[in-house]
Amino acid sequence: MPDLKPPARYPDLADPQARPRYTGIPTFFRVPHTEALDEVDIGIIGVPFDGGVTHRSGARHGPRAVREQSPMLRRFNAATGVAPFATARVRDLGDCWIEAPYALEGALDEIARFYRAVVAAGVVPLSVGGDHSISLPILRAVGAAGPVGMVHIDAHCDTGDDYMGSRFHHGAPFRRAMEAGLLDPARVVQIGIRGTTNDPDMWGFSRASGMRVIGMDEFDDMGWRAAAEEARRVVGAGPAYLTFDIDSLDPAEAPGTGTPEAGGITMREALRLVRALRGLDFVGADLVEVAPSFDHAGLTAFNAASILFEELCLLAEARAARG
Ligand code: MN
Ligand code: MN
Repeated sequence: MPDLKPPARYPDLADPQARPRYTGIPTFFRVPHTEALDEVDIGIIGVPFDGGVTHRSGARHGPRAVREQSPMLRRFNAATGVAPFATARVRDLGDCWIEAPYALEGALDEIARFYRAVVAAGVVPLSVGGDHSISLPILRAVGAAGPVGMVHIDAHCDTGDDYMGSRFHHGAPFRRAMEAGLLDPARVVQIGIRGTTNDPDMWGFSRASGMRVIGMDEFDDMGWRAAAEEARRVVGAGPAYLTFDIDSLDPAEAPGTGTPEAGGITMREALRLVRALRGLDFVGADLVEVAPSFDHAGLTAFNAASILFEELCLLAEARAARG
């Protein structure tokens, strides 16, 4: 089928990512949208679900806000030289929308079914939430072949337990994942943990189970470089998952989230930290908890898209290294 508007002067503009960035339908990074899994190496997936939120809701609108900001990102990573769109077929798989969203555990089962199909097709998933409860069903697919390691950047460990009658809210996914044998706690590192708690040992499960917890004060003292080195040591070789909760960032740079905590990671530190994870065998990643109704000028969604691009580069490099 001929293009309605083929480029007349500049052939490079046949690539939608090279066109003026205010044009076109805003898929993630303006990659083509498809549901044909056999044509995809890395699938970017929106998960517009926030039924696991314990306080301020709105992360269900995260995927659209990140899609809207993502054309700010270009084709090449100038810092690392990685060109993810040139080395992998990166596609927007659309949204993992939920048919029965008002029943939390059923919704998570729906998400797991979706991701099992994605992983079975050999597609590496890069997801945008949604609240952090979505990482559990994603891990049910990604960790089905055996427990994976994990780099978890967040203000919260999310290894809580029952809260008001539910064990599957966004403060508990990684406890459930560990119990289900989806995570190897000795290969899990949690970075940026801080804030007040309702329990003097709120995240005790993380430490007791053998996860490495780098609280915000320790991160401040050691810096992003040493934190990344520690993450690489803990995770080591073998498949690993990367999960980035936008509330790990300082609220000054990421106000658009449901559970902000003062004194967080700066974007400058976050970009260096994530880039320094190159070489780990990431088999999936996500970016969660963007709640646009609390945002200003798209700042949080823009920073989220910027982190998402770094995650995409890590996935593309890891996939290439697996051959
Ligand atoms: Mn979280
Ligand atoms: Mn958090």
